[in-house]
Amino acid sequence: MLAAMPPPVPSPTPAPGAPRVRERGDACPGALRLHSADDGHLARLRLPAGRLTARQVEVLADAAEALGDGRISVTSRGNAELRGLADGCGAELAPLLAEAGLLPSPTHERVRNIVASPASGLDGLGAADVQLWARELDERLCAAPWAAGLSGRFLFVLDDGRGDVTGLGGDVTLVAVAPDAAHLHMGGRAVRVAAADAPRAALAAARAFLSAARAAGTGAWRVRELPEGSGLDVRDVRKALAAEEVPEAVLPQGPPPAPGPLGPAALHVLAPLGRLTAGRLRALLPADEVRLTPWRGAVVAGTDPARLPALEAHGLITRPDSPWAGVSACTGRPGCAKSLADVRADAVPGRPGLPVHYSGCERRCGHPHGDWVDVLAAPGGGYLVDGAPVPRTDLAPAVTTARTAPRTTR
Ligand code: SF4
Repeated sequence: MLAAMPPPVPSPTPAPGAPRVRERGDACPGALRLHSADDGHLARLRLPAGRLTARQVEVLADAAEALGDGRISVTSRGNAELRGLADGCGAELAPLLAEAGLLPSPTHERVRNIVASPASGLDGLGAADVQLWARELDERLCAAPWAAGLSGRFLFVLDDGRGDVTGLGGDVTLVAVAPDAAHLHMGGRAVRVAAADAPRAALAAARAFLSAARAAGTGAWRVRELPEGSGLDVRDVRKALAAEEVPEAVLPQGPPPAPGPLGPAALHVLAPLGRLTAGRLRALLPADEVRLTPWRGAVVAGTDPARLPALEAHGLITRPDSPWAGVSACTGRPGCAKSLADVRADAVPGRPGLPVHYSGCERRCGHPHGDWVDVLAAPGGGYLVDGAPVPRTDLAPAVTTARTAPRTTR
């Protein structure tokens, strides 16, 4: 069933210390449930581990041009969004995506939220190839009828041990700690499982969350929303899989791969302000596969890194010293009615340094994780840079200072 949804009404904010009570299911858009925005309808396409085959790259680029505004937004979970879709276009979009294998389960399309270390298996780093885990987890997820009851926000994170995606706030996080072993983290505890069992363990953990959420009766969408004492316990997974608890397990933290070559047959590029034109997406081919990343770029596997200058000529960010590396923005005007400004047109990079995110309102949609510079549109046409008022014409020096000056962690 295809449907365009009006903007969601947020659930009431809980009193301090009180559990959040969700009175409805989440309103996250999907590929079948479109969101109505000021610039037309929006479709969000879940791509487990950000993965697109070469054929799927072509189909997505064609769909953006034929049905949308010709661009593909890369989300902070490595998913793809099409915007500017006309009324009734869902009837054309869904068969296109399904035929390309991008809609394996209509009932589960919004719950396929799986982020995995994008360079896994390509650059010799990491303890295991978690891209393979992501594929198995996705297949198991889509085959489990109960899993359709997860919210569209519930997130699986699969890190190959380098720590590049552990900071994304997964509800269930798997970390490869050896070629044959993984730690499964959920709700502040961890168990050790065999690598061969890791995808099955992640699914068992999600099921334990759903049981706890139903028992609590608060409609929680995510693990952190469960009330204290809700009964969720990663030890349920331990019992199911004969896994051993890991006291005081720590999530590894590491930087994302830099734009540029990734081993002998892969490369990493970033999309300016997180948007690819259909032409830029196609320019990533030929390749074995393209993995959209949580840093709003693409890891391209099975390609020659010598193509990087050509990709730069296409307008993609290919070097870590590009001032546009680490610059992101929310949708802003004209796509979002809440925005005070056309933040994408106003965005300036300043000099390379900390990530910087431009927002049209205080929701700060899609902001980065960790430490970053906050540029927020203010009434009257100016901005707040980390809270300090700055006229729009003075943004460049203010953003340079904020990105490069020593600071305490946010
Ligand atoms: S941060 Fe505000 S203005 Fe920007 S997309 Fe989100 S709701 Fe719209």
